[in-house]
Amino acid sequence: MNTNRHLKFLFNVGRDKPNSIRHKDTLCPFCNKENLAEILDEDGPIILVTNKYPTLEDTYQTVLIETDDCNADMSIYDKDHMRKLLSFGVKHWLHMEKSGKFKSVIFYKNHGPNSGGSIKHSHMQIVGLETIDYKDFLQDEYFEGITIHEADGCILNVSTKPQANFTEFNIIIDNIDKLDIMADNIQKIVHYILINYPAKCDSFNLFFYDWKGKIICKAVPRFVTSPLLLGYFISQTSSNIDKMAADIQQLYFKDSN
Ligand SMILES: [Zn+2]
Repeated sequence: MNTNRHLKFLFNVGRDKPNSIRHKDTLCPFCNKENLAEILDEDGPIILVTNKYPTLEDTYQTVLIETDDCNADMSIYDKDHMRKLLSFGVKHWLHMEKSGKFKSVIFYKNHGPNSGGSIKHSHMQIVGLETIDYKDFLQDEYFEGITIHEADGCILNVSTKPQANFTEFNIIIDNIDKLDIMADNIQKIVHYILINYPAKCDSFNLFFYDWKGKIICKAVPRFVTSPLLLGYFISQTSSNIDKMAADIQQLYFKDSN
């Protein structure tokens, strides 16, 4: 299979891009609503805009600003806000996918210094790819794992064969009507990663997949990338995932089990 998996980074655009994670005195571009690029849609403090610094060639880059609070993060949103945010994001992501303009559309989130993100203010990204279908690289086994919780049409597990490395949590629904429960579970896992993870962790990614009739969110705690993965494509798993699953059940699902 001769599939394209390289996106070109546009150096001249990237050079001007602010970085409020590395440079703490950089003014936050998302707090200044007048300075935003084109607003595509909004629902209260949740705003979808075109990316002012589209660094990726052959793509259409949009940014989903999650909140008007520069210091808030996903672990502390009230439940209704989290649900509204997920529903808004998924709606726009699937809409872009259905437009037929792109080979595929990716929906993801960077949080923290090890996540690959550059702006601290909570946001996600929805990016239409003209030349790449992300599904070409997926395998069912990336989403299989030890079940932590399964109820109300939503499965939460921890990967036994992670796509990249170590700990990957999968939140899976097979019906779009289940987005609210998915939002609740994503928030619990984000809270676990930032507050209760066995190693101190200030960074994570969320990746969304529209895969075989399911909507899947993969939540990944981030640390420095493993050299074995970079150099040899060898993924590592961790010996403590059973304990982690039990801890999460105890901490977040005690009443429902
Ligand atoms: Zn801000």
